[in-house]
Amino acid sequence: MMTGSDAAILLIYTGGTIGMVTDPVSHQLKPFNFQQLLSEVPELSKFPIRIETHTFENPIDSSDMQPSIWIELATLIGSRYHDYDGFVILHGTDTMSYTAAALSFLLENLAKPVILTGSQLPIGTIRTDGKENLITAIEIAADRENGKSIVPEVAIYFEYKLYRGNRTIKYNAEHFDAFKSPNYPLLAEAGININYSRPSIRSGSSQELVVHRQLGLDVGVLRLFPGMTPTYVNSVLQASGLKGLVMETFGSGNGPTVEWFIDSIKQAIERGMLILNVTQCSAGTVEMGRYSTSAHLADAGVLSGHDMTTEAALAKLMFVLGTGKSDAEMKAMLARSIAGELS
Ligand code: ASP
Repeated sequence: MMTGSDAAILLIYTGGTIGMVTDPVSHQLKPFNFQQLLSEVPELSKFPIRIETHTFENPIDSSDMQPSIWIELATLIGSRYHDYDGFVILHGTDTMSYTAAALSFLLENLAKPVILTGSQLPIGTIRTDGKENLITAIEIAADRENGKSIVPEVAIYFEYKLYRGNRTIKYNAEHFDAFKSPNYPLLAEAGININYSRPSIRSGSSQELVVHRQLGLDVGVLRLFPGMTPTYVNSVLQASGLKGLVMETFGSGNGPTVEWFIDSIKQAIERGMLILNVTQCSAGTVEMGRYSTSAHLADAGVLSGHDMTTEAALAKLMFVLGTGKSDAEMKAMLARSIAGELS
């Protein structure tokens, strides 16, 4: 589809509720045809924007998202980068935050908007939130000032709010307002106008886009809880081939001080595992050393994930492990912000 000619946008359809219909037999929501989806939004033809589309052969529920698809998306954007002013990705909400985080690392030196959106109700339903999400996401992706994109980063637009993608979590499975960015301000809010919060938006790189195509998949997540048994913890820490672990700790980065736990952590780190400490709290930051219950983790070699979400920490670990860099270089990358994912 093409409309107008002022700006050019590539609209990529991966699946998700926005394009789903109810199966008449099972009554379950299933991905549907992209052209059908577009026909539900005739408003798109009124935009003075050239919209071209790319649809996945088999649209998916985002619960089936895979790192290989993140690489496919990054590669697609890289190969069409110079043909468009911005990119909009239609994606299920369930794993949208993971995809946004992964793309923010895979697309180095980004200078154009990559806006992910979707909906909580299919676009064909009367009360859908999909139309507004799609229309405004396209507008944001096309918005330029002095010849430069206003939002040259990977972002999520949902329910009148624009978020830095790698700062988001999906926190509500029911409300239209499905996302939160607990540790970073909004990039924009849409009302009568789209009000951009300029100081919060990254500046676009002047260097050539670099598309990374490697991710290390030997990663895991360990959420601490009172009553964890050594058998359980060790089944994770000693999982065959595991190279990186996001450890969701209590409060400001705390964990149990019992000897078997510290020994297991130390041994995993001695075997070369990268352990990144993020908090189970939805907001706030890890501050190892603030309590004695976190100082021992730092002493054992656990790395601070600062105020990263679990989603961003996991994607970052995959990215860093995929670089093939030395242990010291990977640790340095984990400690600093690569794409605005930590404060
Ligand atoms: N299960 C759906 C998905 O993530 C939910 C949604 O799109 O909102 O694909």
